[in-house]
Amino acid sequence: MNYELVIGLETHVELSTDSKIFCSCGGHGKGSEPNDCVCPACSGMPGMLPVMNKRVVELAVTAGLMLNCEINRYTTFDKKNYYYPDLPCAYQITQLNHPICVNGLVSVKTADGVRDIRIKQIHMEEDAGKLVHGGNSSFVDFNRTSVPLIEIVTQPDFRSPEEVVSYLNKLKSSFIAGGISECEEGAMRCDVNISVRPAGEEKFGVRTEIKNMNSFDAIDKAIRYEAQRHIDALEYGTEELVQETRRFDDVSGKTFAMRNKETEADYRYFPDPNLMPIVIDDEWLEEIKAAKPVAVDERTEEYRAAGIKEDDIEIIIANVKIARLIDDVVSMGCNLKDTAIWVVTDCAGILKKAGKALSELDIAPEKLAAVIKMVANGDINRNAGKKVLIAVIENGVDPVSYCKENGLDKKFDASAVEEVIDRAIAANPQAVIDFKNGKQKAAQALFGACMKELRGAGDPAVIKELLEKKLSM
Ligand SMILES: [Zn+2]
Repeated sequence: MNYELVIGLETHVELSTDSKIFCSCGGHGKGSEPNDCVCPACSGMPGMLPVMNKRVVELAVTAGLMLNCEINRYTTFDKKNYYYPDLPCAYQITQLNHPICVNGLVSVKTADGVRDIRIKQIHMEEDAGKLVHGGNSSFVDFNRTSVPLIEIVTQPDFRSPEEVVSYLNKLKSSFIAGGISECEEGAMRCDVNISVRPAGEEKFGVRTEIKNMNSFDAIDKAIRYEAQRHIDALEYGTEELVQETRRFDDVSGKTFAMRNKETEADYRYFPDPNLMPIVIDDEWLEEIKAAKPVAVDERTEEYRAAGIKEDDIEIIIANVKIARLIDDVVSMGCNLKDTAIWVVTDCAGILKKAGKALSELDIAPEKLAAVIKMVANGDINRNAGKKVLIAVIENGVDPVSYCKENGLDKKFDASAVEEVIDRAIAANPQAVIDFKNGKQKAAQALFGACMKELRGAGDPAVIKELLEKKLSM
């Protein structure tokens, strides 16, 4: 029988704020030592009250706008009660009844085409601390407690692990571009809900949830393993499927039962009386909209319209630092397509020779713009431009003075090139005779000599043409 996979995702994303969600401790909760990024509020001391961080609301709304959500103008917080040693208050502040964003839509691309994934909601919440196990003891580190998160909940619209990974990649590049999250390792964590049903069947199968995965590779593997486990159970009766929470073990590549699935009632949610409802008025929403960065889809269209190759577009979209560099250079008057080629082909090539990736490119946009302009204006040829670029990337030189100092800008006038060719011919009478006797290679040797003297500054095509013309005379 053919089976269809049904997958829904809950993705927790740590927000890039300067402080935690309800206190003034540092945003990412990164202390130099365990428990040195905590205060009485986020370590749950009695009598301490939360104070909402406005920036968290703005970033959550921005994320919602990027994912085509409706923004709830009235949004409230609830307490989710459970006990665990990394949760000092024994409740988590989250949003159940009035989440900040609802009803979004994201289109994802896979080899099978484009599919729309519905976003059920985005809500704001605080992170928990971390347990560190060592020797015979367990330690608790509250640095991460109250770090702001958004949780993005999709409808069960995914039908394959490819769609899930494509969606996650899109979230990641959108959020980095939008300054919403750095999406570093561990800053994006996923719970995957998965069930299987006979193809064509409307009714959902028994659903299991795989908790807390943070690598896309692990998510892909976990879905494949779990789907097969469900199919085997349905097809061959290998086991009875129960609704439960499971964990994925990276080493064995298998999922294991953790606990029976909790229901909402288990958490005894109730509205948090310590936090006022937040009302997002028109003026505030307009401010947030005005500051919203361009979405990935719009970006892709813009690059396509400029004539940039699809492969190059993918590279730029996946690398926000590179996209920003290109933006900066273009804002200095360079052509978009031209700039993309210089970055994705030339800069990447230079870095590759040094064993580095394009993401490691460190160049001042002004300097890159200067190189591109000199070539575009015909002050130097592309070859010379590339030489300058190498010097800029490797030694941070000033491109304009580097050209002057190395004579790269002067060799372009035709008479100078002609002089060099004449000198080369005069110095190699034998080569001239060989050429006239039909030895094409002789011209190559002379061409090499000219290029060497011009230090690569001359236009190779012009030199070749002029040289052959003179040799044939
Ligand atoms: Zn704190």
